[in-house]
Amino acid sequence: MRPTWAEINLKALSQNFLRTTELIGEKVKVMAIVKADAYGHGAVKVSQELQELECHMFGVATVDEAMELRHSGIKAPIVILSGICSDEIDTVVKNNLTPVAFDTQFLKELNKYAGKNNTKIKYHLKVDTGMNRLGFQSNKLNEYFSQILTLNNIIMEGVFTHLSSADCDNAYTAEQISLFKESCLQINDKGFKPSYYHSANSAALQRFKQSHFNLVRPGIMIYGASAAEDIFLHPVMKLKTRIIQIKEIPKGSRVSYGGTFVADRPTKIAVLPIGYADGYSRHLSNKGLVSLKNTTAPVIGQVCMDLIIIDITEVQDVKLGDEVVLFGDENISVDKLASLVDTISYELLSIVGKRVPRVYL
Ligand SMILES: *Cc1c(COP(=O)(O)O)cnc(C)c1O
Repeated sequence: MRPTWAEINLKALSQNFLRTTELIGEKVKVMAIVKADAYGHGAVKVSQELQELECHMFGVATVDEAMELRHSGIKAPIVILSGICSDEIDTVVKNNLTPVAFDTQFLKELNKYAGKNNTKIKYHLKVDTGMNRLGFQSNKLNEYFSQILTLNNIIMEGVFTHLSSADCDNAYTAEQISLFKESCLQINDKGFKPSYYHSANSAALQRFKQSHFNLVRPGIMIYGASAAEDIFLHPVMKLKTRIIQIKEIPKGSRVSYGGTFVADRPTKIAVLPIGYADGYSRHLSNKGLVSLKNTTAPVIGQVCMDLIIIDITEVQDVKLGDEVVLFGDENISVDKLASLVDTISYELLSIVGKRVPRVYL
């Protein structure tokens, strides 16, 4: 077997989940966000583990993601956050999935389907309070009500918004939360009595108690990344490989495609069997750091499709077959690696490729 794998620590996952429930208190429930294959961790295993911990609800982006969970025995409600098309309504209803609504046309279609099939369909209404992405615009809610109020076969089970800047802008976040509260009041005034009100992603959950309402939607924090400074979480994924070749090259040698790295001294290099086709981004060329022997070593030259090269001149006692951590230990967290190439942990986690087996601990 090619020695490149992602170790997924389910103990760390449950510790992070329990830490999350401590932060929100007993009255608030959790919709764990497991979209994009649980940010690369494997949605089935992650959801099964969280179901054991009595996670109340799950959130995914697409119907396919929801169906994967249903097929693997997840019984909890599953909300499809990025919306569905009308030809997916049938699958959604038959599998007891929860659609999100952000326009009246969709609600009419949902209502029509429910009427035809003599059923009631629950949905979550999404309100746009300043992300300017999906959602009914909060300042125009009243215009929509006249159209929604007559739809008797559908039930607004939840109302929610998404906060754009909870990690970086307190004033804007406070404004969004306040617009959301106003929207909820308007919705209640019209006679809707949703069971769930939610707005908090991980950053809001950690930094804004007033964003919790009665349901929170943590994603990245249950995977142990992007935590606020005072909140200790455990990294769940460790991306690992083993050295498959070691060699010494003289000063002036060019390394990898295009010769973007030129050795300025006699250099000891090691080759690792992981590349951009495994989700080790090509942006990490000449910028990435890996962890081995309790220190770090730089990625030199271009990241190839299946291989990278590291400089181990300064690292003692390196042998063929030694284990190397690409991210996820104390020397190189996924947040640190992401910061080296101007991205976020979310991206580096969710791009870990299909070719990389997940090994669950
Ligand atoms: C992805 C997502 C979340 C989770 O965000 P994190 O920052 O990972 O906690 C919450 N809500 C919605 C609507 C999302 O799309």
